[in-house]
Amino acid sequence: MRVVLIGFRGSGKTAVGRRLAEALALSWIDTDAQIVARAGTGIPAIFAEQGEQAFRTLERDVIAGLPGSGCVVSAGGGAVMDPENVRYLRAGSVVFFLQAPAEVIEARIRGSDRPPLTALSPEEEIRALLATRTPAYLSASDVCIDTGDRGIDEVCEAIISTLFSGTVARATCLHHLDAIVHMAPSSGEGAKLCTLLCSKENPLKRLFAITGYPCAHSVSPLLYNHLFSRFNLNYYYTLLEWPDVGEVVDLARKLDIRALSVTIPHKTAVMDHLDEIDGHAAAIGAVNSVLNCGGTLYGHNTDWIGVKTPLEDVKGSRAVVLGAGGAAAAAVYALQDLGMEVWVLNRTEERAIALASRFGCRHGPLTALSSLDADVLINATPVGMGDDRRSPVPQEHLREGMCVFDLVYTPPKTPLLAMAEEMGCRCIPGTEMFVHQARAQFAVFTGIDVEPALIRRLMQ
Ligand code: NAP
Repeated sequence: MRVVLIGFRGSGKTAVGRRLAEALALSWIDTDAQIVARAGTGIPAIFAEQGEQAFRTLERDVIAGLPGSGCVVSAGGGAVMDPENVRYLRAGSVVFFLQAPAEVIEARIRGSDRPPLTALSPEEEIRALLATRTPAYLSASDVCIDTGDRGIDEVCEAIISTLFSGTVARATCLHHLDAIVHMAPSSGEGAKLCTLLCSKENPLKRLFAITGYPCAHSVSPLLYNHLFSRFNLNYYYTLLEWPDVGEVVDLARKLDIRALSVTIPHKTAVMDHLDEIDGHAAAIGAVNSVLNCGGTLYGHNTDWIGVKTPLEDVKGSRAVVLGAGGAAAAAVYALQDLGMEVWVLNRTEERAIALASRFGCRHGPLTALSSLDADVLINATPVGMGDDRRSPVPQEHLREGMCVFDLVYTPPKTPLLAMAEEMGCRCIPGTEMFVHQARAQFAVFTGIDVEPALIRRLMQ
């Protein structure tokens, strides 16, 4: 067994780690103490003489060299900001995020000799660092434990109970098995979920799911389960095809499902059922990723990253988005983030007006493309999907050098992309949106950064 404690300094990692190791008869490793031993000098001196970067390099080496089992590890407060560290810390471990409110942390670390990381006052620095680090702690952990009003022994007890009994009481699991069997895609999968949720041997195996209606065709279970085993994570990803996303979220709370990927048609409706929604998702008006941390549900949107990343090296200043639905909203947000002037062209004018006015951009009918001299064209309509051999715009509206990104990803070469290739355009297939949104979603769900090439390979 390897137990890893993460969290801000003052959250109790050191005291809890030492006590927990004793109770579990495991060795205790404090990564900061190992860094000091390697450097032969204290942390304030490392910062003062060599700078924070040198400290982070030492920290990375220490974390990469940790034993894979038989220990409790108290990790430095900033370690999880590096996804490589998260990958090493998570492999084969149970990771606990020890949380505490800012004022408790302030009181606990007042007078510490730790070097400041910013030019802010100690109180302001704690709040600023907590704001940037908390999402990383939430993603990098399996279980969140509030240490704010608990003593060391109480925290240790809570951790030990979780390690041996899981995060949900057995009676609660049994009570909700019918509901999950009902939502499962097949009786075989339903039985598998029951076994997993009731397992005494592996009570900490956590469940993830994609939810949509329909979503049975999704490649996500295959992709995620492969990644989970590759990174040695004790997780299983299933599929909950269900018309009412509120019911799925309710079940996720009761059974402590760790995360949900949300797809059509639930991306907007799910927002009413969550506790916190990040700024990007709120601006786009859609959530495609939900992370459950101890019953608090956080909504994120990674679709816009899937549109933005493949366009990052594209030159040009004017972009056209075809369509005015959810994918178009993510595309407009991404293009504006890249500093482009955006036009929304849509079959139904009122929807084009509604989307354009939300983002302060221009709008028109699909035929307007011919007069716009666009550098980037994004198709966010389903035209060209599957057996549909149509293109949303005629070939003569494309021009050489234009970048054409078709968000439709089945088939990878759509009729629009085939035409664009003939016209000498730069073509980006919809699979690239999938790859980059999945990479960002995996980071939200686990804190681990996956190589896009690996996701591409797994999708073939
Ligand atoms: P949506 O909310 O239903 O919006 C669809 C949009 O397409 C609407 O603006 C609609 O126009 C337009 N449209 C539909 N049929 C059309 C037609 N025959 N001719 C012209 N316009 C038409 O769907 P969405 O969630 O935005 O998704 C749109 C597409 O994006 C999906 O079909 C999918 O292929 C793609 N997508 C890809 C990824 C990826 O990872 N690559 C992720 C998400 C979505 P009206 O307003 O006139 O109805």
